[in-house]
Amino acid sequence: MLKKLFTPIRIGKMELKNRIVMPAMHFLPSWEGAVLPHHTDYFVERAKGGAALIIIGGCTIDDLSGPTNMISVKDDKFIPGLAALARAVQANGARIAAQLYQAGRYSHSALMGGQQSVSSSPVRSKFTGETPRALTIPEIRQVQKNFALAAERVKRAGFDAVEVIASAGYLISQFLSPVVNRRDDEYGGSFENRMRFGLEVAAKIRRAVGPDFPVIFRVAGNEFMEGGLENEDARVFAHELEKAGADMINVTGGWHETRVPQLTMALPRGGYVYLAAGIKRAVSIPVMACNRINDPLLADRILRDGLADLIGFARGLIADPELPNKAMADRFDEINLCIGCNQGCFDTLFAGQPVTCLVNARAGAEARRTLSPAARRKKVLVIGGGPGGMEAARVAALRGHEVVLYEKEGNLGGQLHLAAIPPGRTEFLTFGRYLENQLRKLNVAVRLGGEASAAQVEAEKPDAVIVATGACALTPPIKGVEGPNVRLAWDVLTGRADTGKEVIVIGGGAVGLETALFLAHKGALDAQTLYFLMFKQAEKYETLRSLLYQGVKKITVVEMLKKLGQDLGPSTRWTILQDVHRMEIKTLARTQAREITPEGVVAVRDGKEILVRGDTVVIAAGARADNKLYEELRGRVEELHLIGDAKSPRKVLEAVAEGFETGAKI
Ligand code: SF4
Repeated sequence: MLKKLFTPIRIGKMELKNRIVMPAMHFLPSWEGAVLPHHTDYFVERAKGGAALIIIGGCTIDDLSGPTNMISVKDDKFIPGLAALARAVQANGARIAAQLYQAGRYSHSALMGGQQSVSSSPVRSKFTGETPRALTIPEIRQVQKNFALAAERVKRAGFDAVEVIASAGYLISQFLSPVVNRRDDEYGGSFENRMRFGLEVAAKIRRAVGPDFPVIFRVAGNEFMEGGLENEDARVFAHELEKAGADMINVTGGWHETRVPQLTMALPRGGYVYLAAGIKRAVSIPVMACNRINDPLLADRILRDGLADLIGFARGLIADPELPNKAMADRFDEINLCIGCNQGCFDTLFAGQPVTCLVNARAGAEARRTLSPAARRKKVLVIGGGPGGMEAARVAALRGHEVVLYEKEGNLGGQLHLAAIPPGRTEFLTFGRYLENQLRKLNVAVRLGGEASAAQVEAEKPDAVIVATGACALTPPIKGVEGPNVRLAWDVLTGRADTGKEVIVIGGGAVGLETALFLAHKGALDAQTLYFLMFKQAEKYETLRSLLYQGVKKITVVEMLKKLGQDLGPSTRWTILQDVHRMEIKTLARTQAREITPEGVVAVRDGKEILVRGDTVVIAAGARADNKLYEELRGRVEELHLIGDAKSPRKVLEAVAEGFETGAKI
């Protein structure tokens, strides 16, 4: 049993049964501000799973707070819907809070009926590409009043607490930070003046909800913006918030405009806990640590080391709503940990879609994707032990079928192994390990190391067959592609093929860029060595910095499309491109490879023929479905399904979702 994670704690007058909080993430759309049935299904599932506090939202507080597809607390008419949600969550053992949201210059005018957004000053937002207008003093008073009225509505709706977002670059941050605040009145200039807006919001909310209703503030532990506030400043603000009536500080990382990744799997687990620890030193109220804390063992260690008092499991509870209950029962290897891929959450959010999850196909579809015991126990053969095949096997076995899984390689995981090789991507293996454990627990018979033939499949006399044979690397029809200087990206990543010193990668999609980064890091300092040399003060800072980015290979990526990394999700693409730039990888977009010669690649760029010099050419030109076995089995078995990349090469997210749906319907 974890020593600290499952001890109660008080936030003001509210007692929480443990230290696990689900922070607010706007992942499920509303209709005109109302709570919808999918919100209730989603939050109730997390309440049942054992989280102590669920923070819903963000919730708009007025017409200029944000888009109309967010839950709203701007009017009394929303109270009945909010109250029903609160009752449902509370009836399932969790406390519930609502986050008050005013995005200021992060609001798109198109999503607010064409109205211009507001801010402390008219500074253009890179996030929206729009320039807000500065709030006048009477308008400032009105927005503060809207915060207070909204908080009071939250209380009237029967919620247990209210949270205010004062982080991520939203309106309160826009007053707080010199990056945006250019005012010369009492709300601008000195830090004291810039804090004024947020502190007055805190004081007005406190007056509106009374002394006993818990008020939480979410702050940026470091804005990670050039010229922005750092942890020292955040400590001062948190201390002042405590004096103004806050009962808890929820610490997150930087702004949406920051160029420092906040959420990708490259960020080490618990990488921003130091921000919460810094703030904890400045306040006497509880402090919550967030960002990439996906593992309850790590969470317990953070609490026991005194770095924070509560832990925000945001995506961790999307990935596995049962995480708290499983951790409490010491069932750690049954927890489906969030891997920080963002494929199903932030990337779908940016595409305007409701949440789903790479590792949990039920996320956001709690009522639709349910599992029921199989009406008749069938013998199910799954061919292919990649993520789609493993998920199909897991779900079919969970429903009571007898499942046999064939995998031609000597281990399970398929493409997850490849995906995990480039720098900062190892977390993909976490999901493979989870699925493998589940298959073991569910007594799935796993047959490794041999390709299943159609005759073998028939001989097993299955009732149903799921073909998840994945994809093969595509070799483009370029002259010279069979030459001795040509390698496939998959072979380079797995170490089956070596490369020379000057490498040309053909294909600037996800695999091409990640292979380029993998090669560019050869000879550069790794994390452990860097730590050692830095800690022991063995080398000068400038030397370490240059060794960190300096590999032994010169890499060029050739891509025929206009942009690189088009198949990467928006939350990850910019971080990969940033790394490509830092590692001095040369990129040639709008460049069509025509011929591979011993000197390199002859290509066409802007209508002109060029020679890209290199001693090795790596092909990363996509994949084609491997559905040979499926074609052979058609008409020969009773029930046949084709899923994942074997159907059409796509992301792991789609393969897992298809695995789930197929396993659920057999
Ligand atoms: Fe975590 Fe990826 Fe699921 Fe998002 S989609 S919750 S990042 S595992």
